[in-house]
Amino acid sequence: MTSPLIAGIELGGTKCICILGSGPDDIREEVRIPTTNPEETLAAVEAVLGRWSGYQALGIASFGPVSIDPEAANYGFITATTKAGWSNTDVGRRLASHADVPLGFNSDVAGAALGEGRWGAAQDVGDHAYVTVGTGIGIGLVMGGDPTNGLTHPELGHIRPVRLAGDDWAGACPFHGACLEGLASGPAIKARAGKPAEQLAEDDPVWDGVAHALAQLAHTLVLTGIPRRIVMGGGVMTGTPHLFPRIREKLVASLGGYVAAPGLDPVEDYVVPAALGNHAGPLGAIELGIRALRPVATSFTRL
Ligand code: ZN
Repeated sequence: MTSPLIAGIELGGTKCICILGSGPDDIREEVRIPTTNPEETLAAVEAVLGRWSGYQALGIASFGPVSIDPEAANYGFITATTKAGWSNTDVGRRLASHADVPLGFNSDVAGAALGEGRWGAAQDVGDHAYVTVGTGIGIGLVMGGDPTNGLTHPELGHIRPVRLAGDDWAGACPFHGACLEGLASGPAIKARAGKPAEQLAEDDPVWDGVAHALAQLAHTLVLTGIPRRIVMGGGVMTGTPHLFPRIREKLVASLGGYVAAPGLDPVEDYVVPAALGNHAGPLGAIELGIRALRPVATSFTRL
């Protein structure tokens, strides 16, 4: 089966990647645009879309929070973001009407989760979690091959993990202090250690708290009963392979033998590194576009 040609947009907080292709083996063009203000950035994206031809759908994976309910008046909008100038910005509808093709729209994390599911580290499972640990911590949950879109996209980056004994550091999240993101994101690590994560030695004591907090997230993810694999990527996870054994060990200890699903064993195959690296997001945008071309499947009737 030939995959359709898709225009994909990964709109990130610092840069926007426009990609024309049908999958990792067929990328025709990639254009990087700095994310500045909405008018400038979206006009530059429109110029790229106007130059491209032959694509059948548009897939957008955007930084959030985003409105992902197709029935909402603000579907396709970035909502109340901390990024200056971008709150309540129409991204999806504006670009889709410019391109005049079907639109697939979701968060950048959901996009990356779908990319890893289609072409990356979760190809052989229908249910998985994708965790990105970088400037923030984002989680994409995929169940039965689809993102778990209900009330909103998952916001599990802000759960409040059980603290390490004796650790009372206040944390770095402006909303919650010592939530997961406030303890284990790149900025949190920098705030705590006084230098960026990539400059920290493997035996720096800060890593123990980071691994502990991320294992608490993995514990929570297991308890949702959804993911058959947890794929972890993002700037903090890339280049720190020593974190993976620590997270796995702490996850097993934290669960205390309670969940005995065969898919959890061995844990080395359960908590794994992302496979697509920086391409998970742009490829995820392509996957969102491919999905926009499918007939709408409903498992229930809305009365
Ligand atoms: Zn928080």
